[in-house]
Parts: sequence; C-alpha cells; structure tokens
Amino acid sequence: MTAEPETLEISRCASCQARFLPTDAPCPRCGSTEREPYAVAAGGTVLASTELVHPAAGWESPHRLALVEVAEEVRLLAIVDGELPAVGSAVRVRLEGDIYRARAEEAPGPERGEGESPRTGAPGASFEPPR
Ligand SMILES: [Zn+2]
Repeated sequence: MTAEPETLEISRCASCQARFLPTDAPCPRCGSTEREPYAVAAGGTVLASTELVHPAAGWESPHRLALVEVAEEVRLLAIVDGELPAVGSAVRVRLEGDIYRARAEEAPGPERGEGESPRTGAPGASFEPPR
C-alpha cells in the first residue's frame, strides 16, 4: 500500500477555469475538453448525510453516505467510514478506486490552554453553517 495522500485531485477547465471532479466528459460548464489536474487539500465539510438501511445489493447495511464540499466548492458524494457525520462537521476524503470515502476528522479533544492561539477550537463553540 502506498502512503495515503493528503490531497485530492480535481480538474480545472483550461478554458473557463471551472473546477470539477475528474471525469472523461467535457467541462460541465463550457464543454471544453482541455483540463488540468489540480490538487486540493483532502479535507471537506459535510453538507448532508444519510444512512441507508436497505442499500443496493453488494453494500453493507447500514450504508452511510455524505455529500461533502471540498476545496474550490467542488462537491462529491462519499461513502462514510465509521459513524454518520453531522452536517457541518469536517471529514477527510480519499479516493479508493473510483469511490470517494469520507471519515470524520479526528476530534482534537479538549485541550488545556497553554496560552496558545485561541483559534484551536473553543470548547462548546457551535458549528452551525451560516444561514
Ligand atoms: Zn470550462
């Protein structure tokens, strides 16, 4: 097994700069077939998640799916490894074959403040997306 990359590959249209998931099809915005691979961080935010009790044949039940937005506002549907992530939570995304898989980011856990930056997650802070 190779080391897990910390990036995710998306495509950028060479003509209109649209970003989209790698595909053999033309650019979904302008139809150009010229695109360049573009690496983004493999982290994303859960937009929606659901659990299927009766998935299609061949899949384990429960089958958890999450709509994840990664960098550049690219969205993808991923199979969830582990517990169902809450909307707005952070996940790591990886590509396995041609299937995206998402796993909840390790919760940093309550840290004792050592006088470091206050940006490291205030305990109890709500994480609601803006309306
Ligand atoms: Zn385009």
